[in-house]
Amino acid sequence: MTSTVRSQLPGTDGGDPAGLQLVIKNARLSTDDNELHNIAVRAGTIVALANRNEDLGPAETTVDAEGRWVIPGAIDTHSHINQRAPEFNHVPGLGPDDNFAVESRGALAGGCTTALNYVQFGPPSLLDSYRSSLATATGQSMMNVCFHGCLMDMDQVAEIPQAVVEGLRTFKIFMPYRGEEARNLGGIGSLNHAQMRIAFSEIAAHGAQALVHAEDGDIVDHCMRHESSAGLDSLAGWERSRPTIAEGDAAWTAMYLAEEAGCPVSIVHVSSLEAIRARRALGYSGAGLESCVHYMLLTTASDIGPEGKVAPPLRDPDLAEAITEAVLAGEIDFFGSDHNVWPSAAKQEWESAKPGLPGIGLMLPLLLTHLVYERGMTMERAIALTSRNAAVRFGLPGKGRVALGADADLVILEEGRREIRADELHSAVDYSPYEGMTLRAWPHTTVCGGTVVYQDGKFPNPDFRGEMLNNRFRGAAVGVF
Ligand SMILES: [Zn+2]
Repeated sequence: MTSTVRSQLPGTDGGDPAGLQLVIKNARLSTDDNELHNIAVRAGTIVALANRNEDLGPAETTVDAEGRWVIPGAIDTHSHINQRAPEFNHVPGLGPDDNFAVESRGALAGGCTTALNYVQFGPPSLLDSYRSSLATATGQSMMNVCFHGCLMDMDQVAEIPQAVVEGLRTFKIFMPYRGEEARNLGGIGSLNHAQMRIAFSEIAAHGAQALVHAEDGDIVDHCMRHESSAGLDSLAGWERSRPTIAEGDAAWTAMYLAEEAGCPVSIVHVSSLEAIRARRALGYSGAGLESCVHYMLLTTASDIGPEGKVAPPLRDPDLAEAITEAVLAGEIDFFGSDHNVWPSAAKQEWESAKPGLPGIGLMLPLLLTHLVYERGMTMERAIALTSRNAAVRFGLPGKGRVALGADADLVILEEGRREIRADELHSAVDYSPYEGMTLRAWPHTTVCGGTVVYQDGKFPNPDFRGEMLNNRFRGAAVGVF
């Protein structure tokens, strides 16, 4: 006789069975290697998890996972959807009216259901930038979005209290960008150390947390001049213009100042071992580290020319391998794609190429391929890196789990071998630095808020819109972290 394992949310039993939004049958879960499970969803929430032998009743939609992995939708902790240059507004999918619509579809096709996306850069007002970014995403995005704010100058630091009231809980500080480089990037401004100290105190006082782009501007400026005058013409030259010591110097400073101010801080897009070493040495428990798959999978030896220009830069193959080993050793907490939407036309010349890579739709499949299928990481740990740790860190407790009461943001994985082709990524960006690489796992079906939003190359519910998660924080007591 088969024993039945069933758990159900209190108060949901006896409800109208027709009220079930979704049932996924025969799901392989990371928490249990031996049994397949059925999952029931009502109103966007997982309300029952049962042994595969138990019928959970009819639902509006039933999907048979046929023993495939079912994992939480990825949370991309770092994306720049709608961070465009005006000269590309006319390109389909790259204008303000459709960039969120298009890129969110590409993300869902890649199993990413939530983007922690940066507001549009630039002065003068953080609040204006946040409000307009939020309004733009609300009408368009098929995925969930939570905005990170950016602090470009002290006027924006002064806006922190009101920004927190309106739902921002994370504020990014840049350290490298100055002068012409800053102007070319839409007016990014960096804070100096004294300003950072004030910003960290203000962020901490409002129960929020800081994110830091850690490359020291003095070192970058000096090395960039040298490489430019020598004639920048390779990814190795670009790497020398932003050496790992610049990341180390900035990461040590940022974590030290943040700890002194009692402010939680994450060093974003970690590209070397320096920030890892700094966190270990400082021992600051409020520090988090984010990395990106491109620092493991692309290097200065990749044959991608100026399309590979990104800051921090791609490193040499030995360092890329060392990053992989550090991730396997548990030194990195979560991953962002640092998805940028520059088309290939913006990436032609070494000097003028915009820094930034597309990748939100490949973060989860590439990470699983590289770490789980090629390097033996458990699926459970991969889930921690791609969703659970971010959910904990950024105050999204319903996410990052396939569990009773959790949000039904789910991915059913296909396994096998599939070649990456940019024209199959559902993005407005017309190239991929990963073109031709082979995936070992990718989404078969993606579910967002209990709705099947992607299946087998198609988007069956194109009118679905994701949740704007900053609204969850609105009016909430400060100190949520
Ligand atoms: Zn970024």
